[in-house]
Amino acid sequence: MDAISYERAVDVSSALRAAQQPGTMFIGGGTNLLDLMKGGVEHPVHLVDITRLRGLDTIGTLPDGGLRIGALVRNSDAANHALVREQYPLLSQAFLSGASPQLRNMATVGGNLMQRTRCGYFYDTAFTQCNKRQPGSGCASIEGQNRTHAILGASSQCVAVNPSDMSVALAALDAVVRVSSLRGERTIPIAEFHRLPADRPEVDTTLQPGELITAVDLPPLLFSEHSHYLKVRDRASYAFALVSVAAALQMDGNTVKTAHIALGGVAHKPWRASIAEQMLNGRPLTDATLREAAAAAMGEAQPLSGNRFKVLLAQRSIVRAVNQAAGRTGGVV
Ligand SMILES: Cc1cc2nc3c(=O)[nH]c(=O)nc-3n(C[C@H](O)[C@H](O)[C@H](O)COP(=O)(O)OP(=O)(O)OC[C@H]3O[C@@H](n4cnc5c(N)ncnc54)[C@H](O)[C@@H]3O)c2cc1C
Repeated sequence: MDAISYERAVDVSSALRAAQQPGTMFIGGGTNLLDLMKGGVEHPVHLVDITRLRGLDTIGTLPDGGLRIGALVRNSDAANHALVREQYPLLSQAFLSGASPQLRNMATVGGNLMQRTRCGYFYDTAFTQCNKRQPGSGCASIEGQNRTHAILGASSQCVAVNPSDMSVALAALDAVVRVSSLRGERTIPIAEFHRLPADRPEVDTTLQPGELITAVDLPPLLFSEHSHYLKVRDRASYAFALVSVAAALQMDGNTVKTAHIALGGVAHKPWRASIAEQMLNGRPLTDATLREAAAAAMGEAQPLSGNRFKVLLAQRSIVRAVNQAAGRTGGVV
């Protein structure tokens, strides 16, 4: 058993000072970190409980009309907040598709951003090959169980996917992550927050040691009328996405002014389907253009032995989610 010290920080600066101790990890709701500690995957020396930090548990409007969601807002509170439901229904839907009510009551926005992959080889220390858990040890998924793994952006080092539903919606909404450290504050566009694995799969995000996520900012709403979060999974609830699609559209009649499409369950980070977006922008939304765009989104897909089905599933999911966002019927490729 590992020896762990614990302290509860009362404000951001005391949390940041506490994080100077080597081996420190912040703990929010603990719904991911405690599982990883019990499984012997994470080994913090010092835990800094951030759940009582003042001022990080609120949601408020920004001067530009956007929304700031504090890092300690619980997933259920964010999902059910009037401003989120009315102005960013896509995000509310994504929150509500994740985990279970009990978990959402505990899980924080910051912890959700930082949750780690659900790859079975990462979670089970009986498997010796996992570059994410033990850099340099290999990747057992590539030749092993890879049904739920990446079809885009993977590397020869890691084919794991990011499991967060919230982050997929944030990617479609162009959210910005606010972080603090003893060096000051900075912002990270969501597209740059999560990483592709490349040759450093043990590093999930661009957050630096000692940095604390304090909030997520959403730009002023453009997409509240036409958005949809679609999550396809093995069970109707309490299951991670095989594929998910966050679709947010600005429409002018039947013409797409701007499409934002982010995919979950397909890559090591939420995946913006930029090519599909470009193919939709400025064009009338027809079955043909949507099918072409969905196919193009999978143009670079490199499925593994066990997840070839995801390529067609992702195309069909894009079609369905965009149709749903636009208020059209249809959905089969
Ligand atoms: C059974 C089960 C099913 C689930 N299903 C889903 C699902 O379908 N979809 C989905 O999206 N998620 C799912 N989850 C994951 C869940 O959403 C995450 O566990 C949760 O969001 C993590 O938040 P937390 O506050 O509990 O994080 P913690 O467990 O407290 O922390 C997680 C990580 O984040 C770091 N951290 C926390 N807060 C901060 C901060 N402010 N700044 C910097 N670092 C921070 C911690 O150090 C730790 O590394 C599921 C979890 C379980 C257990």
